[in-house]
Amino acid sequence: MAHDPITPLIACSACFSDHGLRLDAERLGLEETGVCPNCNTIDSKKLTKGVLLKLAYRFFVWGSLHRCEYGAAPRIQFNEHQKTSIGLSPWLVSDVKLFESLLSIGFFPYGPRLWMIGEVEPLKELQNRCTRKNIVNRILHDYPTRNVGPEHHFYRIRKEPSNPAKPSEYDSPPNSAIGKGRFDSTNFPVLYASPDLQVCMHECRVTAEDDLYVATLTPNTSLRLLDLSVLLRDEHGTEFESLDMAVHMLFLAGKHSYEITREIATAAYTSEFDGVIYPSYFSLLRLGVMPFETTYGISHRRISQYQEYEQEKSIPNLAIFGRPIEQSRLSLQCVNRLIVRRVDYDFHFGPV
Ligand SMILES: [Zn+2]
Repeated sequence: MAHDPITPLIACSACFSDHGLRLDAERLGLEETGVCPNCNTIDSKKLTKGVLLKLAYRFFVWGSLHRCEYGAAPRIQFNEHQKTSIGLSPWLVSDVKLFESLLSIGFFPYGPRLWMIGEVEPLKELQNRCTRKNIVNRILHDYPTRNVGPEHHFYRIRKEPSNPAKPSEYDSPPNSAIGKGRFDSTNFPVLYASPDLQVCMHECRVTAEDDLYVATLTPNTSLRLLDLSVLLRDEHGTEFESLDMAVHMLFLAGKHSYEITREIATAAYTSEFDGVIYPSYFSLLRLGVMPFETTYGISHRRISQYQEYEQEKSIPNLAIFGRPIEQSRLSLQCVNRLIVRRVDYDFHFGPV
């Protein structure tokens, strides 16, 4: 990162005693020679006010993010109006004093707006079996149809198939093995695939010991897919009434959400869709961005200047109903062995 010479350097990575905070500061800090004006260290990464604010946000706000059944919210926030009122580990006391004095901010326990932790009307109606149907119908009506033809290809990974070269190995699993996924249910097989190989690998939870194969698949004709990966713009009302927020939270939730997504799939099948496009659970991990970003308690999904960026956070996955290879709706172009050469984790820290 280049340093603008008129922006003063006010601290450095060596200023901090919390080790995680120090490592985060090394990641974000600037490569600048000279002495830190705060602690006099020479060979450290230097921080401007802007970088220090970014560090405070990453460590305390994103670093205290707490996931709920649906949604997530940070436990800590900071601003220029409040005095620090959070409990601090002993190794963090002097670091917080430094943030307070250099940025004139205080850290406080954050009471989230309730939509952030899943208080979204259409989402609550989806969880309730009596009202679910109504919202599922709205989803079918409000989300766009996408036709995906032979010019597209996507990947499907298998661990230890008994006959790796045989196309049927890459079709939907046999009836004895279905009903455990996000969209498949008893007697309702689904083939999962993605145009993003990294996402496929995450979804299959592969390890370096696995004997892996990847099939490249192409539609034979145009597939009619319900696209749930888009951001619904121009919604009226607040986050509390937002169908977009409900669907976004649904696909970032774990297994407890599957009974809902399975019902969306069977309804889409009844409406003659070949399958759905949906945002991958691993989208955010793949891109390394914070879920449910807000400004003044308003979701970035609802602020027009952020919508493009929010849409880019969503990496689409495909769920195709039935046994599309057997039914000749998809053809297998090629199979390759897949060797996991290196696994790279990216992380940052937060307070206890
Ligand atoms: Zn320093």
